[in-house]
Amino acid sequence: MDCIFCKIAAGEIPVEPVYRDADVMAIADINPQAPHHVLVMPVLHVENVYELANNDEALVAKVFATAAKLGREQAGGGFRLVVNTGAEGGQTVDHMHVHVLAGRLMGWPPG
Ligand code: AMP
Ligand code: ZN
Repeated sequence: MDCIFCKIAAGEIPVEPVYRDADVMAIADINPQAPHHVLVMPVLHVENVYELANNDEALVAKVFATAAKLGREQAGGGFRLVVNTGAEGGQTVDHMHVHVLAGRLMGWPPG
């Protein structure tokens, strides 16, 4: 499968993870949209949050709990979690991930 995040998870593309355990991996976004921009994802491939919710609700919780902890640790103030889903939802990499954005004032609506 030609999935960039699976290749990173498998070590085929060398990346120093921000966090890694058996289930969850976090990496710095290659094109950061905030001073702190980390992507948190399941290690195993799953296309989007809908598929993950259908397959493993506990892993949904673990991915979000990890994202929240990293948001709190990485920034002194607030942070934003974003899960783009499907082409219309702005998803460009079809391996579920949570964006953790922090370190600047976030606007709303997000666009
Ligand atoms: P999305 O558009 O929500 O699917 O988010 C995909 C994110 O992955 C974008 O913010 C990209 O900058 C990021 N990205 C793509 N390739 C890489 C990579 N090799 N390493 C880290 N982040 C990446
Ligand atoms: Zn994948």
